[in-house]
Amino acid sequence: MDTIQNYKCPCCGDALVFSGAKHKLHCSSCGNDYEPETIKQVYDADAAANTESRYEWDSYTPREFTMEDTSLASYECPSCGASIAGDASLGATICPYCGNTTIMKNQFEGALLPDYIIPFRIEKNEAALRFRQAAAKKMFIPGAFKSEAKVKETTGMYVPFWMFDCDADADITYTAQRVSGWSDSKYNYTKTDFYRLFRSGNASFANIPVDASQKAEDVYMDAIEPFDYSDAVKFDASYLSGYLADKYDVSVDDSIERANKRVRTSMEKMLMRDTAGYTSVQPQNSSIRFSGGKVRYALMPVWMLNVNYNGQMYKFAMNGQTGKSVGNYPASKAKLAVLFMSVFAGLSALTIGGCYLLHALGVL
Ligand SMILES: [Zn+2]
Ligand SMILES: [Zn+2]
Repeated sequence: MDTIQNYKCPCCGDALVFSGAKHKLHCSSCGNDYEPETIKQVYDADAAANTESRYEWDSYTPREFTMEDTSLASYECPSCGASIAGDASLGATICPYCGNTTIMKNQFEGALLPDYIIPFRIEKNEAALRFRQAAAKKMFIPGAFKSEAKVKETTGMYVPFWMFDCDADADITYTAQRVSGWSDSKYNYTKTDFYRLFRSGNASFANIPVDASQKAEDVYMDAIEPFDYSDAVKFDASYLSGYLADKYDVSVDDSIERANKRVRTSMEKMLMRDTAGYTSVQPQNSSIRFSGGKVRYALMPVWMLNVNYNGQMYKFAMNGQTGKSVGNYPASKAKLAVLFMSVFAGLSALTIGGCYLLHALGVL
């Protein structure tokens, strides 16, 4: 009896009293009656949604290449500081990140051994061809760029990613309203029903990617995603033959928050989809938990193209699996002026001299 009297009314928060005659919990403040079983469910669901969220990833133990694994060299760029591994016979001559041509070959020191790799599917000459095809379709770049731009260097590079896997559980509580209305000859009536919703569910996540290289500019990497992870295979050093491979410089610990956020957002969206049929729904408490989440290290194929036009270098990146590309095209001033005038007619303060279109934004 004692414990039941401690229950509070889920509608108004006042104390509930057990009425033996009705076998119900009664609220003298708002007049509602509840089945004891209902109140117990409400309390259990509340307790679950109030549990602290918990994200536990297994710790990642880096593994090094051994010399039997491979014959790799290390390429260092004195200009941007990139340190990239590659096949010793490759003789890389240009930094894929900054285009610097005084890249130095050094003694290879056991860089980190990946767990998985998505091999290149697009070959080098096809990458250049696809670049031309993509440029030919662009509308607001100088016509001469399409014919005169020279692909000076095409470097195949494996960019490091952390891949996160986990099975997550979530409990979320919501407050919800359903509004209905009707009229008679005298009045319009509006009725608002208030609800408390409890949703729980679980989901498995595989291959949540977080790019692990500071040098690989996020805007470029995000723009050439997605990769098809079903092509990922267990890493073997022979895949590196003829390519460069960057190694991670963003630690697992620094990447975990991004992975957690993606799990959290996905779980919240998934449970929210199951709250249809109300006029409005507001999340109240949520608890998302998993343990034993797995972290793996993987390499993704990216073509880096340095393109020479009018004495200037333009950088492009292309997904080596899908061919999706992104980069800076020179803007055609005449064509751009027409574009801006038609879009922003009346705005006089726009200056467009020397600006480049960032096609990463996918606008053109
Ligand atoms: Zn009440
Ligand atoms: Zn560089």
